[in-house]
Amino acid sequence: MDNCIFCKIAAGTIPSKKVYEDEDLIVFHDINPAAPMHLLVVPREHISTLADCTDRHQALLGKMLLLAPKLAGEHGGGYIDGADGPAGGFKSLLNTGPDGGQEVYHLHLHVMGGPRPWRGQR
Ligand code: AMP
Ligand code: ZN
Repeated sequence: MDNCIFCKIAAGTIPSKKVYEDEDLIVFHDINPAAPMHLLVVPREHISTLADCTDRHQALLGKMLLLAPKLAGEHGGGYIDGADGPAGGFKSLLNTGPDGGQEVYHLHLHVMGGPRPWRGQR
């Protein structure tokens, strides 16, 4: 999509603080973080919203979700189920449409974590 900011980031024509990429996905830091760790998991394919996904996207959506705990662990938002009980953790968020608070119409998964309290409480 010509006028899509996340397509431009995926293509490398707009800079980002990239932390991961593969043939399907790119992950970068949110420019306006709402938590100590705030990453965006973005498919290379332009899909406007979660509501535009079809059965064809089942594996892609699973891949996005399964990447979240790995990335969180690497970037200060890891979840630990330790001997002293659970610690750490992160929020995984998909905003859909105006009433869902979506601002960028290219599918993305927010992965937010780090020590509480956070500045933003999404
Ligand atoms: P949403 O409201 O779910 O559509 O979230 C869009 C997110 O994209 C917001 O948290 C923005 O801060 C973030 N964002 C917008 N432009 C950029 C950019 N150029 N680089 C990184 N994050 C961005
Ligand atoms: Zn796009």
